[in-house]
Amino acid sequence: METNVQRIKHDIEKLAQFTATPGKGVTRFSYTLEDRAARSYIKEQMQQAELAIFEDAAGTVIGRRPGEVEGPAVLVGSHFDSVKHGGAFDGTAGVVVALEIARVLKEENITTRYPIEVIAMVEEEGGRFGGGLLASQAMAGMVTEEMLTESYDAQGVSLAKAMVDFGLNPDIKAAQRRPEELKAFFELHVEQGIILESEGIDLGLVQAIVGMREYEVEITGRPDHAGTTPMNLRADALIAASQVVQQVRQIALDVGGGAVGTVGRLEVLPGAGNIVPGQVRFSVDLRSHEQTALDSLAAKLKKAVQAACKPEGLTYAITDKMNVEPVSLPSHLRDLIAKEAKDRGISTRTMVSGAGHDTQVMATLTDAALIFVPSKDGRSHCPEEWTAYADLKKGADVLLGAVVTMANQISNDI
Ligand SMILES: [Zn+2]
Repeated sequence: METNVQRIKHDIEKLAQFTATPGKGVTRFSYTLEDRAARSYIKEQMQQAELAIFEDAAGTVIGRRPGEVEGPAVLVGSHFDSVKHGGAFDGTAGVVVALEIARVLKEENITTRYPIEVIAMVEEEGGRFGGGLLASQAMAGMVTEEMLTESYDAQGVSLAKAMVDFGLNPDIKAAQRRPEELKAFFELHVEQGIILESEGIDLGLVQAIVGMREYEVEITGRPDHAGTTPMNLRADALIAASQVVQQVRQIALDVGGGAVGTVGRLEVLPGAGNIVPGQVRFSVDLRSHEQTALDSLAAKLKKAVQAACKPEGLTYAITDKMNVEPVSLPSHLRDLIAKEAKDRGISTRTMVSGAGHDTQVMATLTDAALIFVPSKDGRSHCPEEWTAYADLKKGADVLLGAVVTMANQISNDI
């Protein structure tokens, strides 16, 4: 039993057309016209594969293939939103592969013991509202009303309003899944790094996914005339912010063990050359695959902000945008995937994911597995992002085998 590379290619190329920035990579934010177009294509494919189609309160598209018994379902999928000017493969590859698995099962007339669900998730990247991992967090019951009403896009539209305008049920708790309905979650994703390509290995089996803390830091001083305000009477928010930017790098280096820290966005207000910056808002992204390291990064950041603001007489606020714990994934699913790969002559290695993925949230609900396919030159989140279709097919074939095996494996809970 194998997947069809032409159909995979067709889906990827088709979905890449649903972008807000034609000719400049894929920009597909959640709850937009592009999202609407992509999801109707996905639903069409699900319908052709004879899946029963649902949409949950977060907007995740779910296609369900019944099993012989009404037992816990095996889920397979990824996200179909993108970053701004991203590529055609990040997330989408995992959705397309899941669709292809459903098509093969229909064609081969295979009924598994337990149901299989194809999952196409939204707002994983946080491209529009910051944060991210929204769909999986909604399934895990981690999304609060506050997160929806207090996250805004660049136009000032709240996440809650965008969802309602898109036609979704505002009761986000309705998206929650119970662990007993789920047997396993599988996600295929592009590596977004260069390890697989440089080692000539077909598939990465992820052992652990980094934890992430994302903050919005707001430092407030006073906007004054840049010509008439003496240096000793200023409350310049950018002076402190620039110190914090430097400290974020130092903190990550001090903590070590692969910990990373990034300030990727910084906004200076009022943003005029002749006015002392009265306010600065910036993002801080901290990551590590070790819990203690992550806690230490977060504590050091808070200290650094305070130390930078106090002597300048500035006030500050630090808002949590995302808090995802590092996750170790269960070895038994990894072993099952490794066996499928070996039987097909496909090479694998274990690895740690430095990027966050829906799998790490789903792992709080059920047994979860994440596999990586090679990224050309390690590039991602850019129009150049590329995975060879032959490589994608290898991942799809292995996943097909693993999903079917898992969906036939008798649970002791029935
Ligand atoms: Zn992704």
